[in-house]
Amino acid sequence: MLFAGLAFGGSQADFDPQQNLWTVSNGWIRATFQLTPEGYFLTRQISDLQAGDVWNTSPNRPTSPVRLQADKDVFDAQTQFLLTAQYAESINPGGVRQTVVLQDVRGRAQITVIFEMYNNNSVLRYSLKYKNLTAATTHINFINMVPWTFDDGGKRFTALRVNQWSVNSKPEDFQPLQTLLDTTGTSVEVYSGSDGQQCGWMALRDSDQRGLFTGWEFDGRTKTTVRQDGSKGYVQFNSNILNLNHPVESYVEFQVPNTFIGLFHGDWDEAGYRTQRFVEAVLAKPAPESKSFPYVSWDSWGYQDKIDEQTLRRNADVAANLGVQLFIVDLGWAKGIGDWHADPAKFPNGLGAVSDYVHALGMKFGLHFALAEAAPDSPVLQENPDWTATDEGSYFGAAPLCLSNRPTQDWLVQEGIRMIDEYHVDWILQDGQNMVKQCTKSTHTHDPKDSNYANSVQGINAVVSAIQQARPNVYWENCENGGNMMTFNMVKSYVTSITNDASGSLPSRRAVYGVTYPFPPRFAERYMPQSDGLSVYATHSYRFGGPWVLMTPLADLTPDQAGFLKDQIQFYKSQRQDIAAGKVFHILAPGANATDVIQSYNEATDTAIAVITRAGSSGPSYLFRPKGLNPAQRYTVWFEIDSSVYSQTGAQLMSGGVRVPLPQPYSSDVMHIEPLQQ
Ligand SMILES: [Zn+2]
Repeated sequence: MLFAGLAFGGSQADFDPQQNLWTVSNGWIRATFQLTPEGYFLTRQISDLQAGDVWNTSPNRPTSPVRLQADKDVFDAQTQFLLTAQYAESINPGGVRQTVVLQDVRGRAQITVIFEMYNNNSVLRYSLKYKNLTAATTHINFINMVPWTFDDGGKRFTALRVNQWSVNSKPEDFQPLQTLLDTTGTSVEVYSGSDGQQCGWMALRDSDQRGLFTGWEFDGRTKTTVRQDGSKGYVQFNSNILNLNHPVESYVEFQVPNTFIGLFHGDWDEAGYRTQRFVEAVLAKPAPESKSFPYVSWDSWGYQDKIDEQTLRRNADVAANLGVQLFIVDLGWAKGIGDWHADPAKFPNGLGAVSDYVHALGMKFGLHFALAEAAPDSPVLQENPDWTATDEGSYFGAAPLCLSNRPTQDWLVQEGIRMIDEYHVDWILQDGQNMVKQCTKSTHTHDPKDSNYANSVQGINAVVSAIQQARPNVYWENCENGGNMMTFNMVKSYVTSITNDASGSLPSRRAVYGVTYPFPPRFAERYMPQSDGLSVYATHSYRFGGPWVLMTPLADLTPDQAGFLKDQIQFYKSQRQDIAAGKVFHILAPGANATDVIQSYNEATDTAIAVITRAGSSGPSYLFRPKGLNPAQRYTVWFEIDSSVYSQTGAQLMSGGVRVPLPQPYSSDVMHIEPLQQ
């Protein structure tokens, strides 16, 4: 057999021209695709070479990576194609990209299939391009972004989804949802994207620990399902961009958002860890400074909009002394929403003077920017009343702007750049109500029926990307009154995302517990409101996750309170890197009358950290069995509150456990497990 292969580090793409068979592998997973003699482009198999798990396609249901529709023309597993070109190339970070260019036999479209595989990740990333070969404009109105159907092997399957923030805080926010698929084809659904209900991710596994996970790189609203048809013997994924009607002119190419499918063997923690390692290695915007991130931040919203230069200066003095790294001025600094000039009554010397003061104290300066909103009386809407979207949302009385309308977009990009320059901004707290607005106006530059796609890719994504390209040293945080756009496109532009918005200790722990299935811990930013008080229970509740944002007015702290907070900040800083790169173990879920535990194990340092919290439960102690340790290694175990110290092997700790005293309701401790130096 003749193989035209190309190897890049651990990743390799092979093409067998006799069989028109492509094999993409990185030594961990392998995927094969074929253009059959009949001209159908089909998925053949995806396998986990380490675990030996094999996912075959079903003979009863041919499946293709190609599944889209332009007007009435469907391109899928039943479409006959000719091979036009194929090539492999190396990509960064280390990996390989296989491109297959197909033309449908009727000459209506050129479909380019793109597969990517990266070294040391059990993930296949892929995308399609559709080129309109007809003389008229067509409309892409259907895409399946997760076009995978596999033989079910007679097994039963369980799906995992995770909710996102729901704007009106609910106990279900960031709750993980496990569902056993029935075998009669009932769909389990993920409704994701801005203003959706779940994070843009799903995992599936059978009782033999054989698992798949998938995520899609799109911020608009998407419906993704998985279902099992036991009578025909397959499991099937489907993921559609809602209300899609994207015009593609003659000989113009349209690219479908990237998606990934990954393999794991084990439990949901393993599914999460494999997803997160891929996200950090390939997708996510790199953290500003890996050694000092996630940041400890302070945010002015404890004062609501009653801020001024003197108040901010007094808080900045204390913040710098406590070890705060990022000082954020929240809503209320500007003349109005949509009028992004500092209020001269609050800042007689200009906001730039406050920013300079913050910088002189050694902190970064962050600014609130609700870019997709404008008050009805703002100059921009007075001059351009038609720039609003038809969306019914409202943000502090402001109206929604249509970001995919070109003139609005141009103005907004210039305003963002001016604001950054004028106020010496290092960090933007993006905020607002739903970043992907609905807009059906025919007076705007987008297609009135293509609102969801247009307002995500050509709206919020285009605006943020243009500002970031112009000012690349400014970092952005994602927020829509909370983490309401938890997607794998979001991670590409923002270095963190808020989860729950200032809703207190228990909801904060719940958010971290759920969101750290799909997302790396740094994408679980938590705002700690003043109402939490300054107790160990409160600060421990914010120990695990992304940036820790203090909202307590600092100028009023007693010396004791300041000393306590300073110590807690030091503890947070000493552990954030281990947690950021570690595997998250979800031991016990938080509840109002429960004890909860979340643990991290960092392979590189062989250390583990666990936060053990007793809410309103009655148990005075908890026997904690840590996970993921090296069985033969001897470890030292110590606590931040309890004075006990243990020396045991990993095997002993994992089987026998360690008893953690939690003497009264709302008590907590942090356990440290460190390798004993031989
Ligand atoms: Zn519009």
